[in-house]
Amino acid sequence: MTKLGTPTLLGIPFDAYSSYLRGAGEAPAKIREALRCDASNWWTESGVDLAAAGAYEDAGNLEFAEKHAFASIEAGVGALMDAGKRPVSLGGDHSITYPIVKAVARRHPELTIFHFDAHPDLYEEFEGNRLSHACPFARIMEAGLAKRLVQVGIRTINRHQREQAQKFGVHVVEIRALPAYAKLKGSGPVYLTFDMDVLDPAFAPGVSHREPGGMSVREAIAHLHAIEGEIVGADLVEYNPVQDVAGLTATVAAKILKEILGKMIAG
Ligand code: MN
Ligand code: MN
Repeated sequence: MTKLGTPTLLGIPFDAYSSYLRGAGEAPAKIREALRCDASNWWTESGVDLAAAGAYEDAGNLEFAEKHAFASIEAGVGALMDAGKRPVSLGGDHSITYPIVKAVARRHPELTIFHFDAHPDLYEEFEGNRLSHACPFARIMEAGLAKRLVQVGIRTINRHQREQAQKFGVHVVEIRALPAYAKLKGSGPVYLTFDMDVLDPAFAPGVSHREPGGMSVREAIAHLHAIEGEIVGADLVEYNPVQDVAGLTATVAAKILKEILGKMIAG
């Protein structure tokens, strides 16, 4: 619908590289169910009607063999983009962002990535796995897939990851520095990756790594609304239904998804 393509949901039910708990692979179906729930309507806070014809599309879930998952994710996202769609991927654990960004960066060089997370996910390797959900941004930066990486909401950084951030020139905005709306001005294409654990576990208990002291839903939406730039793709990851309480986090994930879609449509 726009020159950037219709935002299109793509479920990526992959959680094999989650280091602590599995379960995030069950998220896409739960998020869709919450998105379609009649408890709310289809309007975003920014005034976009997601029920309007062609506002967004849903490509269903990606199918893949676990051992070929990353190649399938890269190919699947690439095919979606080549069909003129803008990918909005529903994870899955955060490891999927590396193959997604590989596909996006090939079509949109000079990418700025805005990354909402409690964790920097910059480990050189984690428990012997260089593709762990603790590592995607190390892989993305060493491969030169992003011109700029801005991480927002970080509250678990250790010495190793601080060194990694310095090595790769990552702009880390720790949670104690919020609000930080001005840090979310992009130039050129923007990729948005939203890890649900950026939120405080009081709002979003359904995550694998509950890290207290996080953003409220309100703070997260305010920061999403503050993004400037053309969002060429996005993902929403790390919702873990196994950890959820009464489906609360699914509702929150759907709310965040609505505001991301609204932002992508309205610019
Ligand atoms: Mn993460
Ligand atoms: Mn995280």
